[in-house]
Amino acid sequence: MKKDDELSQELLDVARKGGTEAPFTGKYVNEHSKGMYKCAICGNELFSSYTKFESGTGWPSFTEPKNLEHVELRDDNTHGMHRTEVLCKNCGAHLGHVFDDGPADKGGKRYCINSVCLELDPEK
Ligand SMILES: [Zn+2]
Repeated sequence: MKKDDELSQELLDVARKGGTEAPFTGKYVNEHSKGMYKCAICGNELFSSYTKFESGTGWPSFTEPKNLEHVELRDDNTHGMHRTEVLCKNCGAHLGHVFDDGPADKGGKRYCINSVCLELDPEK
């Protein structure tokens, strides 16, 4: 687990303040390597590359978390919208939101996650 003073300002703004990185700027938007996306703060296994898909939204998108026990889903009614916030269950970092417009043949969910909150552990 990293301490807050070890984290970049960008990561603090997203993970601790619920911010959102600008679309198409994150390091994993166009990433196609296989591996496990872990929490950038605590290393919790969050998303497998096998569930990543091209959503065209500008943020890394996944159809499901590695394990639903590893994330926390919370109602978010800020900015005049009803959304579901996705947080790391282990450290409480804000990761992004989940929407119901994902691929229908894979459950219909789109986990829209900020790259800065993730650290890809490449498959060996
Ligand atoms: Zn975490």
